[in-house]
Amino acid sequence: MADGRAGAALRGLRGRFRGQVVLPGDPGYDRARAVWNATADAHPAAVARCAGVEDVVAAVRLAREHDLLVAVRGGGHSYPGFSTCDGGLVIDLSPMAGVRVDPGRRLATAAGGALLGELDRQAQAHGLACPTGHVSHTGVGGLTLGGGVGRLTRRHGLTLDNLVAIELVTADGERVRAAADSEPELFWGLRGAGANFGIATSFELRLHPVGPRVLAGIAVYPIERAREVAAAFTAAMAAAPDEVTAGMGWFVAPPGPPFPPAVAGRPVVVVNATHCGPLDAAERDLAPLRALGPALDTFAPRSYLELQAESDDHYRWGKRYYWKGLLLEALAAEAVDQIGALLAAAPGPDCGVGLLSLGGAFGRVPEDATAFSGRDAALWLITEAVWQDPAQDPARVAWGRDAMAALRPFATSVNYVNDLGQLDQDAVRGAYGPAKYDRLVALKRTWDPANVFRRNQNIRP
Ligand SMILES: Cc1cc2nc3c(=O)[nH]c(=O)nc-3n(C[C@H](O)[C@H](O)[C@H](O)COP(=O)(O)OP(=O)(O)OC[C@H]3O[C@@H](n4cnc5c(N)ncnc54)[C@H](O)[C@@H]3O)c2cc1C
Repeated sequence: MADGRAGAALRGLRGRFRGQVVLPGDPGYDRARAVWNATADAHPAAVARCAGVEDVVAAVRLAREHDLLVAVRGGGHSYPGFSTCDGGLVIDLSPMAGVRVDPGRRLATAAGGALLGELDRQAQAHGLACPTGHVSHTGVGGLTLGGGVGRLTRRHGLTLDNLVAIELVTADGERVRAAADSEPELFWGLRGAGANFGIATSFELRLHPVGPRVLAGIAVYPIERAREVAAAFTAAMAAAPDEVTAGMGWFVAPPGPPFPPAVAGRPVVVVNATHCGPLDAAERDLAPLRALGPALDTFAPRSYLELQAESDDHYRWGKRYYWKGLLLEALAAEAVDQIGALLAAAPGPDCGVGLLSLGGAFGRVPEDATAFSGRDAALWLITEAVWQDPAQDPARVAWGRDAMAALRPFATSVNYVNDLGQLDQDAVRGAYGPAKYDRLVALKRTWDPANVFRRNQNIRP
């Protein structure tokens, strides 16, 4: 907890703050301190809900002056709960949530606390989209600064591949613009290790024509067919154009419609895909992914905007989550068997494994062009456990750890930082590989030598 002097300063901040400073005991405190993952139940000394860049500057300066631990919150979706902290200052950007679109230049400017849904909505109003993630209440901030994998990745790259510029408040409370022609080394590091170097107050992002309708859906098979489905998926993706981003999922199907009796309530393997090109080309290009006679095939032209929000409720705020991820070079048959065994050993129905094809535009970005590491990876894999009862924490976390241990032998040496868990310095170094990590350390020493921004996958100065 903040000592008396810091406590008084936090109360004093209210007088020169456009937004809200929420302190323990205030009526809105529990709402203000909540983050997406209910297992991250921290009690900060204050939550500074910033209304603009001046508020961000004031909050950073106050934290420095009183040596307060800082947590920066964008969308609040960090799996390990980095966007909150016990006893420190949460600099909450969520009131800074606006997105402006310049359709002529095909650019969006998203404020530091904007959510993916707002970016999608504003861009789709002009028939445009920026490649983002799969759940619309995720923050543009954390997603973009770490990577940003989603339905358009093979066609248009990661979210961070579409960054044109970032406005930043530094650890000294100064304002900096990072772009290809302004602080280029900082711009390099922000694209993959971005939470380490400052507070991004705005993101300028490139947009592309998409939709408004795209062909998308799932094909569902009994889990016994997993090896056959995985082999067909691999072959289909080797020949697929960039417009196709597809994945596989292993989970227990819900008990009723639309799942037919052959798969309802049973472990299944699913192929999901989105084609972001014209609908007639999409029918042709997605046919190989649907050709094995699934028990259920839901492919149909869909509103891109609705598709982007279709998992929002399942992954809603306030549940308990244990998620981890890996990048894979290929989908080995032995990995498919391991995933099946993991599902059989799961402690509850909401434990699953998903993967998504990479390659295409994602893979054509040179490995050294950004701090993000793993451009050679063929697949992005996620294990997820979702539950509500805190009594189930040990069993769910143990399953999540076992799943990672079983699948790590199939992974690339580097990893996607947004998929790491609680801070583990070896894992962070490994995620970038030694050469990139050392380059990031040099950057951290320039921009944040006191490690003010350390509630993240931390680059130690
Ligand atoms: C439901 C769900 C779905 C997801 N789907 C995808 C997906 O499809 N693709 C994908 O690539 N990832 C996905 N992710 C992972 C996601 O990219 C990360 O969890 C990301 O960190 C979330 O960003 P946030 O701003 O919401 O989170 P926060 O918890 O607010 O922030 C995460 C980290 O970034 C820092 N940060 C956030 N905003 C800023 C800012 N403006 N300036 C400086 N630092 C900042 C925080 O301090 C923290 O360290 C998903 C996560 C969830 C929970």
